[in-house]
Amino acid sequence: MLSLFLFGCTENTESQKNSYEIKLAYNDETHTLLGDMTVNYINTTGESLDYVCFHLYPNAFREGSTQSVVSLANYNRAYYNGKSYGDIDIISSNKEYSFIGEDENILKLELSSPLAPNDFVILNIEFQTVLPEINHRIGVGENTINFGNAVPILCVYEHGDFDLNGYNSNGDPFYSEIADYSVQLAFPEKYKLASTGEVVSESVDEGNKLVNITAEDVRDFVFVLSEKFEVLSEEVGQTTVDYYFYDDENPEESLKTSVLALQTFNELFGEYPYTTLKVVEASFVHGGMEFPNLVLISDSLYSYETYLAVIVHEIAHQWWYGLVGNDQYNYGWLDEGLAEFSTALFYEKNSEYNLDKDQMTLRNQSNYNIFKKIYTDVLGSVDTKFNRALDEFANEQEYVYTAYVKAYLMHDTLYELLGEKTYLKCLKRYFNENQFKLATPENLISAFSKASGKNLESFFYSWFEDKVIIG
Ligand SMILES: [Zn+2]
Repeated sequence: MLSLFLFGCTENTESQKNSYEIKLAYNDETHTLLGDMTVNYINTTGESLDYVCFHLYPNAFREGSTQSVVSLANYNRAYYNGKSYGDIDIISSNKEYSFIGEDENILKLELSSPLAPNDFVILNIEFQTVLPEINHRIGVGENTINFGNAVPILCVYEHGDFDLNGYNSNGDPFYSEIADYSVQLAFPEKYKLASTGEVVSESVDEGNKLVNITAEDVRDFVFVLSEKFEVLSEEVGQTTVDYYFYDDENPEESLKTSVLALQTFNELFGEYPYTTLKVVEASFVHGGMEFPNLVLISDSLYSYETYLAVIVHEIAHQWWYGLVGNDQYNYGWLDEGLAEFSTALFYEKNSEYNLDKDQMTLRNQSNYNIFKKIYTDVLGSVDTKFNRALDEFANEQEYVYTAYVKAYLMHDTLYELLGEKTYLKCLKRYFNENQFKLATPENLISAFSKASGKNLESFFYSWFEDKVIIG
């Protein structure tokens, strides 16, 4: 379906951003999300295009998929009700379409005529996503229904083709560009909603809530429903921080930590430009998950101290992943290492938590060395390089101890080498140069080299190539 009032009839030359207009309806009896999506796609590739591709991430959850959505260690915590499946079906499109990938996780739309550079095309996709029963980014969880990666999303075009990487359970296999979203969402009225973007209107019709949402300059659109949500809110400058919870004995403290994280990172890195940030306690197998304007914090973390640390880590991702995007499939360490190190900077600036950067560094050094020793003892050797793609890691542990922990240690070494003032100047430069864009490791090296006045290429490559000894 095409809404002309949104797109106009002339070529869109003002904005180079893609925009999504999506109508969504959730049926909680069948666990299905029915969607009708119209995308205004602008060809910014500089080349003529014959087709456009979208990720269909929910197909990783379907029966017989080649990729497991959780590691064996997390299986029982994820599938609380036994194995369950989900998927995404394409009902129709205004273009001819086909599927690519082992699990049909890429949708390819053929354009009727070649799309010239800077020209635009209207793409329509009607789809139905079936949610599995699982405590995951997408899934009907024990306490919340999570709609992460539930709708088709444009693949990034680079190096002469669309990025076709599928799913991988080792990390967050997502990669997308900044876009604008206009969403109309219907769901049973008993649920409370947390979503990316701002709710602009809300009404109730025959037992369903109808909500209109706009989200500008975001990398994705996500929402969470729960009957159990309570909400606490606080303003930070232009931003309203909403904390959604149902099983938290210290909700004021959790909100306070969210507020402090936003304030601290605003100061350290550059201003968070959105009016909303939602911190959402959720049924989630991992510790937490970052989405634009919204973070999931697992309701089953083993300590409250960890719960708060996850809040800080996920909020740091609003800068590293959200504002400064990156290819999380090929360079997961780029945002994870920074989110971890930003958490240490948070504790360094907020002494009331009785945890500082030095303690975090010691803990990370010790954890890294234990990981390395155990894996070397058992397997004879272990690959500790972090600068590789998710499918090149042998398992989740190898990914976590390198892309999070070792990349943290790289930033800590850099911080000690340059001093706090210069390190933060470098980080601000990286933020300013790459805000709303997609950064690469080279962009990080370049920003740090330019802002510090030192050529740091060999420093970074010695870490990439595993030539450092961690004491
Ligand atoms: Zn993270």
